[in-house]
Amino acid sequence: MITDSLIDHMAQRIGGRHLTFGDSSADVGLPAPEPNKLFLLYLHVPFCVVLCPFCSFHRVEFQRDRAKKYFHALRLEIRKVTEAGYRFDEMYIGGGTPTVMPDELIATVRLVRDLHPMSRISAETNPDDIDDSKLPQLHDVGVSRLSVGVQSFDDKLLQEMQRYDKYGSGDDIRRRLKRVQGTFETLNVDMIFNFPHQTEESLRNDLEILTNDINASQVSYYPLMATNSTRRSMLRTMGAVDFRRERGMYQQIVQHMLAAGYTRSSAWCFSRDNNMIDEYITDRQEYLGLGSGAFSYLNGNFFATTFSINHYLRLVEAGRTGIVRKRTMSRREQMRYYLLIQMFGGSLDLGAAERKFDGGFRRGIRSDLIALRLLGVIINRDGRLQLTEHGYYIWVIMMRELFTGVNKLREEMRHNISQENV
Ligand code: SF4
Repeated sequence: MITDSLIDHMAQRIGGRHLTFGDSSADVGLPAPEPNKLFLLYLHVPFCVVLCPFCSFHRVEFQRDRAKKYFHALRLEIRKVTEAGYRFDEMYIGGGTPTVMPDELIATVRLVRDLHPMSRISAETNPDDIDDSKLPQLHDVGVSRLSVGVQSFDDKLLQEMQRYDKYGSGDDIRRRLKRVQGTFETLNVDMIFNFPHQTEESLRNDLEILTNDINASQVSYYPLMATNSTRRSMLRTMGAVDFRRERGMYQQIVQHMLAAGYTRSSAWCFSRDNNMIDEYITDRQEYLGLGSGAFSYLNGNFFATTFSINHYLRLVEAGRTGIVRKRTMSRREQMRYYLLIQMFGGSLDLGAAERKFDGGFRRGIRSDLIALRLLGVIINRDGRLQLTEHGYYIWVIMMRELFTGVNKLREEMRHNISQENV
């Protein structure tokens, strides 16, 4: 259908599928911070005890000694950027599995708290770590939001994802989540929809557990994504992804979550109240990422740290940060990125957008805005662009394209490991 191919075209154009570091400069180092600016700090902890077949994040198998050295380097890097003048007021710790060594994580959070005026700290974890006796200490040092990667409560799907043996059955995970409920201000549960063998009934069952049994304060429901590197491993264990089922499942999720009293914090995040979300980039336009496999977005530039853990350790020991690549985005790319990220949260303030781009926002991406309006994706209401109900699903596709683009960048960075790791 012509509208489908138009939407596909728009999604690739706005979603940044063609993002690449290409011949970008290597070994660029840390850019100087803008004075008096507070940034969001992202820390990446790439260790996992199992490597799930669908996952395209930067993750490596957990080895205790290596992880210990890594956390030590991470704290050195935090001190380094602090000395360079960076100031942070929010932190997001992702992975991998940040809670893989709770004592090390707690020491790292404590250091950041000592150096910076933190208002919100969010950390990701996995179902087997939520029972850890150290977890309340994580809250005591300032983590207010815990995000647990569950994906599904369906035992058959968990087996296909190869998570059942390590993280337990859907019932085990459900019980553990209920025990931790109330420890953190926000308990976010990360889920995935459109697994090849997921049925409408299985999805309904997952939704009911989330809202009626666990009563999660927040649920992030990602569409299953396939990249070149994960497609083959997924095919072996989980089957082939069929994107034609995606819209129907998304509608099922939205109907259920809204009827259960949740509001949409983004196109795929549902909250009981107004909390920080997994896509911290929606709230914060600029962020600095530390650790191996982290990205930063600063002043219209994308930066990447090395994906080689050995190279990362050597760089930090030599008094540097892990940043090795930089890509400067054109003005139009910056506007499209701004549009993409703001609309993911549901709406965009046109006045703020014009101020940010010196009055050139609407002019700069005029054809994109006209096409989105004609396709019924956005409407202009009182100076704000808003997603229509149809638009929310289109934005799921847009963000899927962004993630696909970012995953491509990850593949590119992994490809560079052999040159860096000499
Ligand atoms: S999905 Fe989570 S636990 Fe599985 S490999 Fe990826 S980061 Fe690790």
